[in-house]
Amino acid sequence: MVWSKWERRELLQAGWVRAGEVWAADNLCIYVQPLYVTGPCLTMLGATRCPPHFLHFGEFKDTPPPDPAMPQANRPASTGFDGPRNQPHGGEGGARTELTQQGSEGLRPEPRIVIIGAGPTGLGAGYRLKELGYTNFTIYEAKPFIGGLSHSFRDDVGFTWDIGGHVMFSHYKYYDQCFEKLMGDEFTLNDRESWVRIAERWVPYPFQNNIRYLPAQMAYECMSGLIRAQLGKGEIKSHHDAKNFGEFIDAVFGDGLAKHFMRPYNFKVWAYPPEMMNKHWIGERVAVIDYERALKNLVLGSDDYGWGPNNRFKFPLKGGTGEFYRRFGPVLGLTTDGRETPTSSIKLNKRVQAIDVNGKSIAFTDGTTTTYDHLITTQPLDILCNHTLRGEIPQWLKDESARLLHSGGHMVGIGLKRKCPSTKSWMYFPEDNCPFYRVTYLSNYSPFMTPADNTRGDAPFYSLLCETSVSSHKPEDAATIIERTITGLEHAGLLEPGEREDIVSTWHYYADYSYPTPSVDRDDILANVIPWLEQHGIYSRGRFGMWKYEVANTDHTLMQGVECVNRLVLGEKETTIGVVYKITEDGRHAAIHERSSVAGSGEKRDIAGKPTPAAASVVNGTSASHGGKQPGPESGLLQGAPSARGSHTPQTPRKPLTTRIIGDNGAAEIGEEEAGVGGD
Ligand SMILES: Cc1cc2nc3c(=O)[nH]c(=O)nc-3n(C[C@H](O)[C@H](O)[C@H](O)COP(=O)(O)OP(=O)(O)OC[C@H]3O[C@@H](n4cnc5c(N)ncnc54)[C@H](O)[C@@H]3O)c2cc1C
Repeated sequence: MVWSKWERRELLQAGWVRAGEVWAADNLCIYVQPLYVTGPCLTMLGATRCPPHFLHFGEFKDTPPPDPAMPQANRPASTGFDGPRNQPHGGEGGARTELTQQGSEGLRPEPRIVIIGAGPTGLGAGYRLKELGYTNFTIYEAKPFIGGLSHSFRDDVGFTWDIGGHVMFSHYKYYDQCFEKLMGDEFTLNDRESWVRIAERWVPYPFQNNIRYLPAQMAYECMSGLIRAQLGKGEIKSHHDAKNFGEFIDAVFGDGLAKHFMRPYNFKVWAYPPEMMNKHWIGERVAVIDYERALKNLVLGSDDYGWGPNNRFKFPLKGGTGEFYRRFGPVLGLTTDGRETPTSSIKLNKRVQAIDVNGKSIAFTDGTTTTYDHLITTQPLDILCNHTLRGEIPQWLKDESARLLHSGGHMVGIGLKRKCPSTKSWMYFPEDNCPFYRVTYLSNYSPFMTPADNTRGDAPFYSLLCETSVSSHKPEDAATIIERTITGLEHAGLLEPGEREDIVSTWHYYADYSYPTPSVDRDDILANVIPWLEQHGIYSRGRFGMWKYEVANTDHTLMQGVECVNRLVLGEKETTIGVVYKITEDGRHAAIHERSSVAGSGEKRDIAGKPTPAAASVVNGTSASHGGKQPGPESGLLQGAPSARGSHTPQTPRKPLTTRIIGDNGAAEIGEEEAGVGGD
């Protein structure tokens, strides 16, 4: 074995040690995680504590040590062989560590990698393994289909539904390339148009930038509270002093905005009081504002819609969000209609019941078993530690993970037989006159989401997807949720009296794990639990595997799978799981994006004779704008104030594709969905 020729000291000096061992050197205590060690894992996890025997060693080299057995001439000039870190992710194959190469005499065979769950994380891991030419792996999925929370369903009437409004955007080149490879040009490109429903009116998102749309008294309370807070005259003097998300809201936004929007809305989304949540997840997801900007908008009547790096987003042309993930199936050996074959790398209907950490074996509910060398699991972390693991499991591991909080969600789809009356993408609902926190005009994302093709914009169908969160702090009666949703739509002005008769389909899906709550003690829990699991060859990743909401969107989770494989096989560092979003430090640096001047009305559009977004935008693949009245300021104080709209940035002509541009024109980056003040 090549590695045995290296003395421990030499390896340490070279920055390389063998995997799976606990070594002490001088005053350093090192646990070597994967096949190669590449970095300080605790830093990656953003941990605050260091459990014993865990890597705490600063920087290692990016590449493995030179193989002394390899003739000098065959080595690249620098460090032996080129480090995998230098390989582009998107490339076919990629460098493999010698430890994982098969076939050569004396070299170790591929360790067996088992992946639990075929959601985006598991699919990302499998896709990357396939790309690397790695063969000794299997994905086990409990359900008869893949995609997890990103699966889409088609109901009997012909509407397509997602498990909550999924807006696709990416922080990663690899994810983009993956999307491109699997989807080609079969997607729509949509401009965000989001609104808040409050005081019987539509306020453009972000709410806090558009106070001027509120009734005068409410606008005054919000503005004066914001000024007091930002001058340090509130109860919490600065966001630095805030011990939790609730105090952060008060310190940054002031009591008026907190009372009218931030607190009620966040409770509806998260289903926990904001005092139970930390403030570190916020990052890009909350549009903060300084009071001078808010004051300017209020007094000068400026519109300030476009906050958020995600103004434009892709959506699969057909099949909903799940179509992208469905297309991983054939890559991993499923048939095109999602069925398993004897050679598939994905095994469906295989629910993991127990994992023996000592014997590295897995038992399924159907009575069969398998073994693993490395296990990537995406099942919820609390279930994993409390119900699935067997063997010598410390009680603290169970207790700590049981303290993680999450919410569930009722997804209710309402399909209507009527032309879509609006150009909106999605809307937020902070008030208690409806159960849902968010409603999406899902049919606006693609002309193929309803029973009739709407490419010409004249299909007599549209769909609303309504999300309601649930927790022990916010119980919701499942038996009445559909009826309460419809009544809520009437209260919120989305369904006019009489439109109830147009409902031709109702769809209901309950996700018992919907949002991983960023609770105040979450990071401390993860800092203990995740390293223990990794010391036992178990890599818990994904939305509920890692439990980090801030890296729990589809792009993050897919990349968690990819990066975990890169770590196991190539010895690369994982980065996504360690992302720490900087809170917009003093609440004064909200990203500024201009919004289209023709971004559509908040009110129902008069559809007679006007093209729908779909119809307007398919012309030669060039995005075309359409009209729509923009509600003016309704505050008594500022009635009639001039409206300074964001300028319209023309699109560069695109080559004619089957791609449809849906929605209004506008130029902005794709990025994180801002999700109001939380939520995906
Ligand atoms: C309401 C809502 C809105 C969202 N909006 C967005 C959005 O706008 N944009 C965005 O990018 N993302 C969004 N997301 C997040 C997105 O859905 C997740 O990032 C993604 O689905 C997580 O992938 P995952 O593989 O980590 O977990 P999951 O999707 O949960 O997949 C886990 C898989 O593991 C399987 N499994 C669990 N236990 C076992 C077991 N014991 N044995 C075998 N298999 C098991 C499950 O059946 C499932 O298929 C949203 C999520 C929700 C709930």
